[in-house]
Amino acid sequence: MPIKSLLLLILLMLFSPNLLAKEYKWSSKLTFLGFLKKHGISQKLYYNMDREDKELIQEIKAGQSYSIIRKKGKIKTINIPVSDELMLEIRRVKKGFKAKYIPIPYQLIEKTISIRIKKGFKKDLYNATKTHYYGKELEAVYSKSIPFHKMRKGDRIIIFYTQKYRHNKAYSSPQIEACLIEVNKKPFYGFLLDDKYYDSTGKQYQRTFVYNKAGFIRPIRNIKRISSGFTQRRYHPILHRYRAHLGIDYAARRGTKIIASAGGRIVYRGWKGGYGRVIEIKHKNGIKTLYAHQSRFARKLHIGSWVSQGRVIGYVGTSGRSTGPHLHFGLYKNGRAINPARYIRKRKVLRQIKLRGTKYKKLRKLVRHYRPQFKETKARKRSIIKKESQRCLNCYKKLPKQLKK
Ligand SMILES: [Zn+2]
Repeated sequence: MPIKSLLLLILLMLFSPNLLAKEYKWSSKLTFLGFLKKHGISQKLYYNMDREDKELIQEIKAGQSYSIIRKKGKIKTINIPVSDELMLEIRRVKKGFKAKYIPIPYQLIEKTISIRIKKGFKKDLYNATKTHYYGKELEAVYSKSIPFHKMRKGDRIIIFYTQKYRHNKAYSSPQIEACLIEVNKKPFYGFLLDDKYYDSTGKQYQRTFVYNKAGFIRPIRNIKRISSGFTQRRYHPILHRYRAHLGIDYAARRGTKIIASAGGRIVYRGWKGGYGRVIEIKHKNGIKTLYAHQSRFARKLHIGSWVSQGRVIGYVGTSGRSTGPHLHFGLYKNGRAINPARYIRKRKVLRQIKLRGTKYKKLRKLVRHYRPQFKETKARKRSIIKKESQRCLNCYKKLPKQLKK
């Protein structure tokens, strides 16, 4: 058993001798309502949820693990992850059960990579880490601003990144927090602030979309507006709870044509709870797109049909209790929800963005935070591969209350 899980178990036993947490896998045959029934929980728990919460229920995936905590054999809490960051917590209260989404507890570990260029930055990063992720990520963020082709043997790359762990297993992509890229001994620094990268003076690096050479297009030709963007996790200050929106909502008139964002095969065509009438298309590279709330499907299409990019697959509606007519468009990579905006071809932004005011101050704080770390890492002659920093950034801070007791 991994040490961290063991530690957790000991903690549980120490503080509440009657609590027992058990992990299960979500079966592909299990529906959420079926799950409630199986555990004697009223179906109202689902029917009383609002629109957004119901949509998230559809994100529960077959094969994923969830946990049930029992006290003296009686269910106390059930935790079912719905995304990388949120899980549905079903908790016993005086009368029946209550449900809400809460952040998934995880450990955030800071790690370092430091290498010297021998053959080329992507090759060298791959050789050091055995994954293409870091090279691709650096290329995507910096290739517009940094002349990678002028790199010379001996130039250095230093990456400080964070990785989330749950039950001792890494999950979700690593996040590059800061990096140094030397080009012919000239240093370029990058710092992550609110999802975007800046140099130490506050100039933003413009990301390219190397992930997606094929190009996905907007699933509607003439959109009125984006009524809701993608968020992994957002705290609603009035409702006092967490929400997530794992797709983009395009407001459009009822009946507006919905088109396939890229070529692929239809793998789902039917009703899906809070998402209403849904089509799912499987594309290359483990990507799947989802088109929800349709008023009707295009005829002659069925599961297994091949559709080319731009082919009409259905029509905008409000099925699945959505508010106004709109298309909910989701994009998944290996089953994980990703912001579709990162994949959709866009016109180039030419304006250079430079930080000012409080955001600039925040960035300078980051720069000051990393400066000694860069200095220390640079002073070492040897390569460093995924070395863990000694401090855990959030150890057990984020565990839900009932586990802390
Ligand atoms: Zn939506």
